[in-house]
Amino acid sequence: MVVTTERDEMTWYKCEACGLMFDDQSDARQHEENCDAEEPSYIQ
Ligand SMILES: [Zn+2]
Repeated sequence: MVVTTERDEMTWYKCEACGLMFDDQSDARQHEENCDAEEPSYIQ
């Protein structure tokens, strides 16, 4: 899930699953689609 966060008077878009931050919402959403952190299917 992408969450917005304010830092240094800027809005950042953060991938909640892995903590990566983006300054562009579309970048964050694109990352989210490919983020492995949200897919725990191969956790042993
Ligand atoms: Zn991520």
